[in-house]
Amino acid sequence: MYFSARNKYFEALPVENTQIWSCTKEGCKGWMRDNFTFEYQPVCCLCSSPMVSKMKMLPLLVNSNDELKAIRKSVQMNSTRLTTS
Ligand SMILES: [Zn+2]
Repeated sequence: MYFSARNKYFEALPVENTQIWSCTKEGCKGWMRDNFTFEYQPVCCLCSSPMVSKMKMLPLLVNSNDELKAIRKSVQMNSTRLTTS
């Protein structure tokens, strides 16, 4: 029986509530993981609108780079100020 093999694979993938940047333009699906950004507010790669920090359930990326984690923390701190409007 092959039908469940793919589903089992996905269930085995750990997910985490991940900080992302999401496009503010209505109807635009642009978003990116915040560990690909730095300490400035990014713009959408699809429509160049401002992006806001959000949480999204995503498959866990195995990444032991401490420098990236430090960047993520600083982005989260900054985003609390950027998204108060
Ligand atoms: Zn967009």
